[in-house]
Amino acid sequence: MSSMAVLKKGRLSSALRRRFRDYYGSIEGVNQNYVDIKWKRWLEFPDITTYTASKDGRQAAWIVYDPRSSMIEEILTRSKDQGVDLLPDVVDALIARESLVAAEILEADRERYRWMVAYGFRPTRSYSADGLSFLKMDLSTAVYFQRHQQRGPARTYGRRERVAVERVPATQTQDEIKRSLENLIDRLGGIERFVKPGAKALIKPNVVADHGMKDGIYTGGVVTDIRLVRALIELLLPVAGSITVAEGSSINRSETGRMFAHYGYDRLADMDRKVRVVDLNTDRLVEKPVPAGKRMASRKVPVTIAEADTIINLPVLKIHFAAGVSLAIKNLQGAMPPLEKYMSHFFGLWQNLVNIHRLIKPTLSIIDGLTGQEDFGPVSGTPKQMNVLIGGTNPVAVDAVAMRIMGLDPTLSPPVLLAYLQGLGPIEPEKIQVVGAAIDEVASPFKQPELNLQSGRDITIHAVDACNGCRGYLHFTINKLRRPDPLETTRLLIDRPFEPKVNIFLGPSTPTRIDPRETNLFMGICQQHHAGLGTHLPGCPPHAEVIMNGIFRLFPDVERPKYADETEEAKLEKMLKEVLESEGRGEQSQRGLGPTLDSNY
Ligand code: SF4
Repeated sequence: MSSMAVLKKGRLSSALRRRFRDYYGSIEGVNQNYVDIKWKRWLEFPDITTYTASKDGRQAAWIVYDPRSSMIEEILTRSKDQGVDLLPDVVDALIARESLVAAEILEADRERYRWMVAYGFRPTRSYSADGLSFLKMDLSTAVYFQRHQQRGPARTYGRRERVAVERVPATQTQDEIKRSLENLIDRLGGIERFVKPGAKALIKPNVVADHGMKDGIYTGGVVTDIRLVRALIELLLPVAGSITVAEGSSINRSETGRMFAHYGYDRLADMDRKVRVVDLNTDRLVEKPVPAGKRMASRKVPVTIAEADTIINLPVLKIHFAAGVSLAIKNLQGAMPPLEKYMSHFFGLWQNLVNIHRLIKPTLSIIDGLTGQEDFGPVSGTPKQMNVLIGGTNPVAVDAVAMRIMGLDPTLSPPVLLAYLQGLGPIEPEKIQVVGAAIDEVASPFKQPELNLQSGRDITIHAVDACNGCRGYLHFTINKLRRPDPLETTRLLIDRPFEPKVNIFLGPSTPTRIDPRETNLFMGICQQHHAGLGTHLPGCPPHAEVIMNGIFRLFPDVERPKYADETEEAKLEKMLKEVLESEGRGEQSQRGLGPTLDSNY
């Protein structure tokens, strides 16, 4: 590996200004006004950071960076003749320091566009200001993982975290569950450490879908076991002023109430008048800015969540076909309102899961491992009785321990890895003190889903370097084509002949040359730079509905399988368009930004 560029904080110097003027003087259609307006804006914002970058003792470049939005405002080599070859090293150094970043560039600046796309940035939005057209370039998360996973977190996590692991007897009576839960909380400092007398306590379970009941009996591993929720309420009652059990179902968003009734959550309110059950999908909202504005500047949070004094996160020990696992980090997706859930796919789910944890800071995360779920989780997998509870104050450390108990490396889950790389918590065993049962004593490997992305006769899947997000969601959809074709039942739908042929591209690398005469589908932010060469399925990963619509459009005679309530999804899609349009960016970002074949990297 070549040596890293070195960044030093600098200032908006006259040399930088001269170079800034020179650079834009050579781009057609850009006048001096643009340079003056931007320079003035930088001077007005004290947070704007200027870095000088050097490589092997040689001064290489300047970066003007906005830490409030994680945006590269400007990046310039020291002189016109110093090649752009150093810029990827300079960006590497910036990302090592600031983690996932974005950049704003002028649409007319094709040279910058080309090297940024080659690095792994993608044009996710276009907009106009001051009479000029701009592109927002978002870094592909898959590229970020590839380039930076070996380097570790942007900021070293300073503390050693404690995670408690508590066995539960296999008989799992209500008393045994409560005793184990009490032991676990005592190992972490006792309930009074987390809930002050009279405090508003909020429990966030996982109540995602109705798949977990058979003949009126809960089979386990799909939703948080209600016996654990009851046990926690009993422990909280002597201390808390109020206890709210709150969830917003993630699949059919209007059905949280039905899910509560299905699993008996609605009866929790009968335990005491201090207890209530709230559907977060219908709650009032309050807007909060995202620290460092990564991918989204702000998020709307349910008031019930925002007003809680202490939040106890109660996920289930389960596999997720796209996120690797659905544990403490993933469980807070359910705390967001429907439009935010939908938008988080569009703007980048992994980053938004980390963002949620920066906005909603759970005091405690306790994973329900009474019965976990292996194989094709989070709803269609197989229950696996584990008789364990795993808890701690840091969600990354809790997930890392839980994943090791499941026989998985914590870096296999994109949201856990991203949370770690962005300094939310540690995954290194030496930085996590495990108390109670040792990991080895309770560990039992979870079967992972086999993702089948095999191509069909005329449908070719190109999935180089894609992370499990796009792979998982594509598998989910493509699997529905592995059934007999009603036009010719001796073959599968995926083997239906197509002329022209069909290609589905996912992941940041595209080693095959794209033929625009064929039918091309491009998945996710990683493939957004090819949007103009076919149909783009936006998102990171694209929402299952978006992929399903994109692929089943090729089979107009076949009824599209149901994922969630289509009218609800259509409503959310319309709302998202309105949000984008209100920012004056809608039409173009929906359409995708199409480069020519020359920029097919
Ligand atoms: S989910 Fe898809 S778009 Fe997002 S980083 Fe992974 S491969 Fe790229």
